[in-house]
Amino acid sequence: MENVIIIGSGPAGLTAAIYAARANLNPLMIEGEEVGGQLMTTTDVENYPGFAEGIMGPDLMMVTRKQAERFGTRFISQNVTKVDFSSQPFKMWVGDKEYQSKSVIISTGASAKYLGLENERRLLGRGVSACATCDGAFFRDVDVCIVGGGDTAMEEALFLTRFAKKVWVFHRREEFRASKVMADRVLNHDKIEVVWNTQLVDVLGDKAVTGVKLENVKTKEVKEMPMEGVFIAIGHKPNTDVFKEFITTNEVGYIQTKADSTYTNVEGVFACGDAQDDIYRQAITAAGTGCMAAIDAERWLDNQEHA
Ligand code: NDP
Repeated sequence: MENVIIIGSGPAGLTAAIYAARANLNPLMIEGEEVGGQLMTTTDVENYPGFAEGIMGPDLMMVTRKQAERFGTRFISQNVTKVDFSSQPFKMWVGDKEYQSKSVIISTGASAKYLGLENERRLLGRGVSACATCDGAFFRDVDVCIVGGGDTAMEEALFLTRFAKKVWVFHRREEFRASKVMADRVLNHDKIEVVWNTQLVDVLGDKAVTGVKLENVKTKEVKEMPMEGVFIAIGHKPNTDVFKEFITTNEVGYIQTKADSTYTNVEGVFACGDAQDDIYRQAITAAGTGCMAAIDAERWLDNQEHA
């Protein structure tokens, strides 16, 4: 029987682990198959306090993981496949193996969204990607495109200019959602061309991507363009499906936490990071709520013992 199981290993989960371990709770982290979460697919992180010159996302996560390990966190590098939060002790399964815990911290984060086109899925990994940082270097001296208008799209477009001959940005409106500083960098980059009011409606290619089909959402004009790489950057979906029978979420799937806390609707189950935050979604806010979750869990466990 564990005191606390932390599910998910991004900045939220790892910070929760550091605090829980230092509070002598001997936490077990089920860190998932994508260890380190979304920052593992980022390059420079320039806005995480404490790193005046910036730090690479994977480096930040690995050093944070080491910090959690130093205080005794134990790790299981697999995904939770089933949970039962209907009664104490809480039960979680990784395949056939069952784990039991008095308290749970959910920090499963969010994953990239796709457009939902059949050929997008078929050609995933064959020219279609949702991670420029992971796959950008495969596209040297060819034309690639980004779909989306948020900060992720801007960041990925700028990153791709290191390799690609030309980077096209297709956005469905005529204004970016991204912050002005990022948008300006994209708009002023001589390797990037922005095409407004444009939706990607198909990805072309047999064994690998050879082109895209685009629709102008205003004129409805459809045209094809040769393209070798298609990067989808249209936001993220919280990884909370496995909990939804027990844990209350909003309509998109973000876990609802009680005001000024990380308490979910189930007493003893706490949630932090991007799994519950659809507003800020930053590494530092995730880390902050991870700290809150560990303190909430520690105090809750303490109250149970003294009840
Ligand atoms: P966002 O939700 O901010 O942006 C998603 C973009 O994709 C929007 O422009 C949206 O268009 C577009 N989009 C959504 N669905 C579709 C669709 N079906 N077809 C075409 N386009 C679509 O997600 P991000 O991942 O960009 O950013 C998430 C959060 O993370 C934000 O708060 C962002 O600021 C932050 N972030 C910060 C960074 C930094 O500070 N360095 C880096 C990366 C992210 P529309 O605008 O029309 O809705």
